[in-house]
Amino acid sequence: MFNKKRKGSVYMSLLLIISFIMSAATAPMTGQAEEVEENNQTYLIATDVTFAPFEFQNAYGEYVGIDMDLLAAIAEDQGFEYELRPMNFSAGLQALETNQVDGMMAGMGITPEREESFDFSDPYFESGPVLAVRAGNDEIQEYSDLDGKTLAVKVGTTGAEFAGELASEYDIEINQFEDSASMYEDVLANHSDAAIEDYPVMAYAIQQGLELDFPLEPESGDSYGFAVNQGENQELLEMFNAGLANMIADGIYDEIVERYLGDSTEVAQSVGFFGLLRANFGDLMSGLGRTLVLTLVSFGISLLAGTIIGLFSATPSKALNVIADIYVTILRGIPLIVLAFFMYFSVPQLFNMQISAFMAGVITLSLNTTAYIAEQVRGGIAAVPGGQLEAARSLGLPYRVSMQKVVLPQAIKIMIPSLINQFVITLKDTSILSVIGIVELTQTGRIIIARSYQSGAMWIIIGAIYLIIITLLTKLSNVVERRLIHND
Ligand code: GLN
Repeated sequence: MFNKKRKGSVYMSLLLIISFIMSAATAPMTGQAEEVEENNQTYLIATDVTFAPFEFQNAYGEYVGIDMDLLAAIAEDQGFEYELRPMNFSAGLQALETNQVDGMMAGMGITPEREESFDFSDPYFESGPVLAVRAGNDEIQEYSDLDGKTLAVKVGTTGAEFAGELASEYDIEINQFEDSASMYEDVLANHSDAAIEDYPVMAYAIQQGLELDFPLEPESGDSYGFAVNQGENQELLEMFNAGLANMIADGIYDEIVERYLGDSTEVAQSVGFFGLLRANFGDLMSGLGRTLVLTLVSFGISLLAGTIIGLFSATPSKALNVIADIYVTILRGIPLIVLAFFMYFSVPQLFNMQISAFMAGVITLSLNTTAYIAEQVRGGIAAVPGGQLEAARSLGLPYRVSMQKVVLPQAIKIMIPSLINQFVITLKDTSILSVIGIVELTQTGRIIIARSYQSGAMWIIIGAIYLIIITLLTKLSNVVERRLIHND
């Protein structure tokens, strides 16, 4: 089907693409410092992606905030290295529980239930949940006014627990969100009547221009602590406590708190659509880069594995047919998000190992995409008229050669449009991997919203980037398709 020259240049381009992917894949995925030498342990610390003023990304892509600055100061004081793993709060709790990270610092309340699984540092900040409503909404003055209303909460938080207590007293519908920004949006968009959030976080967001208000005084009793898994990383916990005491004694602790909660705190400017795009262009492009790397690596693996499994179902061997059938049935039957959680949280526990979010993401996406590609390969082969194989066999060609020289070239032509389609689906599916903390394009959008509070404009920008890149890639693959099909 190819002449020699074209075959050579296709291989060359494939090699180039693969080496590009491999070099990009080894680049840091979280934008944080990479690990230092092996014997000098680097602790992995989970944090919340969106919890200003405790942790959030500034316009330079650095994680800052009270927790982040305090952690950096303590690490310097105690001489330990760490790498951040920003993820949704509930995912952080799971990552800590399954030893995927060594510690967690995320405005995390020290509660008796959590103390059953985790060991906490000395408390470093007093906080508590508060009820927030749309500014100007005076329907809710008391908790009892929530009767018959909808309340937005963040999964796994002490605020969500408090909302649960209120719901046992009044008739309240609860909407659960994975991150704070989505919870605020739900109230602003009038889907929920109120949200429950930690007071300093809500006050900071309102100071930054978010149009919410407090009808009631905050609750007390949420003391933040740094956590490690129970019985694990005790030396890290000790260093944290020692460093914290030093920071308090030196006045650095007060300086850090003042930086974010003092009167001189900068207020985020609402910069308009193009201003938002311009200010965050670099972050958006690196998010897009990670999305593309995830897609290309996973799709490359799936193309190979999917072809093998697809061939399994096309062979006369019953045993191979069954293997292919089992694979496709299982992997097509599990939602991608469940598979991602399984890979990132369950597999490391089952095999007692740590697996990076990027690795878990690539495995998840590859396993899933392989199932679909296998089906396309099977369908492509089935679409080649049976007479073709028979004719080749009757000329005395063995099965393998007949498949290779006669059936597959025709099947590939039939498959190309559906493979292009699958590539687009895989690219869009990468957004699901944000749940395990991979900062791809969608997660980048969430992070920017967390510091700019401009979700309306940001989701339009993110949608447009996906659309543009998918349209470009589809056009490019159409050109490749035409070449392969018509110029052989
Ligand atoms: N302080 C709350 C808790 O401990 C919320 C933390 C967070 O959302 N990052 O659950």
